[in-house]
Amino acid sequence: MDYKNVPELFGSLVFDDRVMKARLSDEVYASLKKTIDENVRLENSVADAVAEEMKNWAIEHGATHFTHWFQPLTGITAEKHDSFITPSDDGGVLMEFSGKELIKGEPDASSFPSGGLRATFEARGYTAWDPTSYAFIKDHTLCIPTAFCSYSGEALDKKTPLLRSMQAINRQAKRILKLFGNDDVKYIRTCVGPEQEYFLIDKELFDKRPDLKYTGRTLFGAMPPKGQEMDDHYFGVIKPRVAEFMEDLNEELWKLGILAKTEHNEVAPAQHELAPIYSTTNVATDSNQLTMEIMKKVARRHGMVCLLHEKPFAGVNGSGKHNNWSVSTDTGVNLLSPGKTPYENAQFLLFLVAVIQAVDDYQDLLRLSVATAGNDHRLGANEAPPAIISVFLGDELTAILNAIKNDTPYKGAEEVKLKLGVHALPRFFRDTTDRNRTSPFAFTGNKFEFRSLGSSNSIACANIMLNSAVAESLRQYADELEQAEDFETALHELIKRVITEHERILFDGNGYGEEWIKEATEVRGLSNLKTTADAMPHLLDKKNVEMLVKHKVFTETEAHSRCEIMLENYVKTVNIEGLTMVDMVRKNYLPAIERYLYRLSQTTVLMRQASPNVKCKYEVSTLERLSELTDYIMDAVIDLEGALSTFKEFTDVFESSAFVRDEMLPKMETLRKYVDEAEMLTSQKDWPFPSYGQLLFSVY
Ligand code: ADP
Ligand code: MG
Repeated sequence: MDYKNVPELFGSLVFDDRVMKARLSDEVYASLKKTIDENVRLENSVADAVAEEMKNWAIEHGATHFTHWFQPLTGITAEKHDSFITPSDDGGVLMEFSGKELIKGEPDASSFPSGGLRATFEARGYTAWDPTSYAFIKDHTLCIPTAFCSYSGEALDKKTPLLRSMQAINRQAKRILKLFGNDDVKYIRTCVGPEQEYFLIDKELFDKRPDLKYTGRTLFGAMPPKGQEMDDHYFGVIKPRVAEFMEDLNEELWKLGILAKTEHNEVAPAQHELAPIYSTTNVATDSNQLTMEIMKKVARRHGMVCLLHEKPFAGVNGSGKHNNWSVSTDTGVNLLSPGKTPYENAQFLLFLVAVIQAVDDYQDLLRLSVATAGNDHRLGANEAPPAIISVFLGDELTAILNAIKNDTPYKGAEEVKLKLGVHALPRFFRDTTDRNRTSPFAFTGNKFEFRSLGSSNSIACANIMLNSAVAESLRQYADELEQAEDFETALHELIKRVITEHERILFDGNGYGEEWIKEATEVRGLSNLKTTADAMPHLLDKKNVEMLVKHKVFTETEAHSRCEIMLENYVKTVNIEGLTMVDMVRKNYLPAIERYLYRLSQTTVLMRQASPNVKCKYEVSTLERLSELTDYIMDAVIDLEGALSTFKEFTDVFESSAFVRDEMLPKMETLRKYVDEAEMLTSQKDWPFPSYGQLLFSVY
């Protein structure tokens, strides 16, 4: 990489604002800008002009094809490439790309999950250009970020509801801002900086593990003598091979205009993190999808594999994603940042309590927005936040809210009763607020950090729910305050009331303690949805569907289809894991143990022939236990096979997901337990797959 030229490199493969400004006529640029910022419909002539310049620019940068790049509910991105070529009269070709092709595509939708939305005879789907996310070039292809819908207009992707949720919160926040006299604000946007964790392991070893290949995680594996207990990996020196990978990754990401900023080692061996600078939620979502894709690609180039699974190794910390979320205005004000004047502070507090109420009212939606088979292994397992959603505010802010709630003096700079809109609040310092790593949802000075996301999750789902839930709190406040005779008094009373009604969601203590689970569920009545099978059906709770429909984020049909698709993903994932386990046990583990048993028994016989006095302690005890274990393994595998075939008979996804939770997963765990014990007793030479120690310490 040419280090001196990072500014030139940055965004060089992106049709960004700089390129648009330079290449489009003033009128076309102005009208496109209005579409991007204010969601104004684009004229056909403008689309044609943009398409023409986009194509010329793309060809200059080596592109031959274009694709509508979208995010179906498979969790990854999809693309279908078309070349720019059109036959010309003289038998040659022209490179063409029209406004129509830019704005709309019609991919075959039949191979993407739709949860029954799209009848089988109607396979057409639409992709529609999202001009708020810049087009970019990847693998000689101009990629145009698009939303993906069915023929009848129902969303089949993650971007559509995300954009709708951003509009919902924009609508409601603007009503609130008007009440505070901020008439100059044209729009508000939510912003996100997602911190991405991942593992890097050696490709040769990866290739030897069918479980990693088929499921992304190890389904067997005894703990190595050294794991993460020495805490020597976190922020440790980055190994040369990893450093080269990161350098290469940065270059690729920067070219795509992705603001990769921070990189460091994480807690577990072979675990790392990448944090970008935050951007608009919709752009951050696209960028994060691209980041994950490019991480995998670059790792391969360096002879490694990037694991994005939430729990690649049992007993070792898994990977998550922290969704740092804030709300800002087009005038550059962060609405979650305590202001400089008393009035700004009152506004800040209103937005703050709006988030608190949203998290309390829609705990279940936030929980289910991060629910996947993979993430179920982390949440509540004392390495990631618990499955119970709560909000961490820190001492200072908690004291302020308490003072407001109780009408008691707040010991700030001056000891006075806080009257909102009159008294200045002290400035909060972020380092006093970010100590508690066990909280799922923490205020960190000028943003909230939702920490429950899984590493492979698209951040879209979490932000759809978060934006919508906060939009709903703001809607209620706007309805109330717009009617108020005395705005300041009404505001004060409202904030006080919201604090009182929702303080049960506030918790600054240790989220890992047994006491918290008891208190949260029994005293406070918070929900503890432990698995995807428990969480996902709540999407269809009346209050949730009503809220999402009211804010036009989902139609009722879309909510139903989404719930089914997410549960289907859960069920399919575990099914593949179960089948992989059976395969590995029958074809590899049992035969390997048998070979070793054969050697042990042969040795014992020969040794005893050689001398009647030998005890053969090692041989006999190992043989006895291993032989016992093979019996248990055999029983467990037959048990699991039974479950796998029963599972095939389910037609209702709610029933099959409960079956997965109650029957399949426990059976898989039992099988694993015996195999892992056998691993400790079998000679490494005979063991068919690389061990945890080899995998975790494979890159240096
Ligand atoms: P930490 O590492 O302590 O969690 P950082 O300040 O490094 O905190 O931020 C982590 C992530 O939060 C980064 O991706 C950063 O860009 C993002 N971030 C910072 N400020 C904001 C904000 N106002 N809104 C959204 N994300 C933010
Ligand atoms: Mg963080």
